[in-house]
Amino acid sequence: MTVHQPEPAAPPQPSPQPPAPASAFTPEAAFTPEAAFTPEAVFTPEAGGPVVVRTDEGAKDGLVKCARCGATEISLNVATGNLRCSFCRYEWADADKLVDLGLDGDIGALRGVVGGSGTADIVPSTDEVLTFRCSACGADVVVDTAHGTQARCHWCRNVLSVNQQVPNGAVPDVVLPFRLPKDQAVARIREFVGKRRFYAHRTFRAEFSPETVVGVYMPYLVADLNTRSRLAGQGERLVRSYTVKVRGSDGQDRDERRYDADVYDVVREFDLHVDDLTIESSADRRDHTAAARTNNIINTILPFDVENAVRYDSNYLSGFTAERRDTDVDDVRGPALTQAKEIARFRALAMIEAYDRGVRWDQQGLDVVGERWVAAYLPVWLYSYHQVRRNGSSLLHYVAVNGRTGETMGSVPVNRRRLFAVSVVVEAVAAVAALFVMIGF
Ligand SMILES: [Zn+2]
Ligand SMILES: [Zn+2]
Repeated sequence: MTVHQPEPAAPPQPSPQPPAPASAFTPEAAFTPEAAFTPEAVFTPEAGGPVVVRTDEGAKDGLVKCARCGATEISLNVATGNLRCSFCRYEWADADKLVDLGLDGDIGALRGVVGGSGTADIVPSTDEVLTFRCSACGADVVVDTAHGTQARCHWCRNVLSVNQQVPNGAVPDVVLPFRLPKDQAVARIREFVGKRRFYAHRTFRAEFSPETVVGVYMPYLVADLNTRSRLAGQGERLVRSYTVKVRGSDGQDRDERRYDADVYDVVREFDLHVDDLTIESSADRRDHTAAARTNNIINTILPFDVENAVRYDSNYLSGFTAERRDTDVDDVRGPALTQAKEIARFRALAMIEAYDRGVRWDQQGLDVVGERWVAAYLPVWLYSYHQVRRNGSSLLHYVAVNGRTGETMGSVPVNRRRLFAVSVVVEAVAAVAALFVMIGF
């Protein structure tokens, strides 16, 4: 049916006609008619409980020794991504990656819930302070897992590590080691602030010292989702446009542009595989109401190459700090599915190009066939600046650098007077320009 209407279009009328021929779509659009929709594909938890993949199998707490010299001073060599003995410089590179742990691979084959043991729900009563017997000297050494997973024996100076997972979120499945060295992070922060230097607050400029940047492992829950996405709505195709004379209430004839469009019921159903969706698992970072906090900034330095994350080993954290996970998979599943729906709508754009006047989606469904969860520490260089305002209130500013890609984002305290002065000048220039136009300069 053809609808005659002036712009903007009135709500399109439902049409009995089928959607435009399939030939109008790209083959990879994977459009399937509604009949092909199989509700049985909907995942039901009863079909099989969650599958837990143990990622701390064989992990040992206590002394982790260099295979060559037996020293316990082990840390990440950022240049190679390997662990290195700080004593004899021996390096090893046999860490299991996600795929070796059975936590990566074909998303289309995912059924039900699969998760690394590091994603286990946090048990609030878990004792955060663990005591280990040092196997070198026999002393009891305390590790406060709220603040780290290593401690030095105060008697023999050996380093003790926590590698077995405790249900308090301190030990994830995997860690993505830093690859960007500190000096490069400092250079990125300097460059970022340099571009904003003119507007930056005077005190900030005086106190700016990017060398104090800290390497932090941020806790994330990473999801692979095997979903079936369904969108239904109405799409319009322009048939023709033309101009008509219309008599106005003042008795004058005016030109009015008219558009004829065909309206179709449109359904798009397709498999949507979401790979490595990263969601903060620190409640503080996910609190989007906290203005000017790190959460938004850190989201802007995504993505991370999570597929290169390796099995957790406390020694990767040596010399860095880490923030502990304090939220469970059930807390972040909702936000994850919301993001998946956004991705689905974006993906669908390529499947509705035939509707040159657009498609309005009225319904969206997302069935989760399978999901896989991994708890990961991801590397971020953080430069923080505590701004104390004249009224006594304070605000934390951050510049964050992705510890893998060098992507940089942040906030800088602004010199309001200078910003105001500049915007007034811009407006004055615009006003003068407008004046010139008016007098036909
Ligand atoms: Zn060694
Ligand atoms: Zn000892």
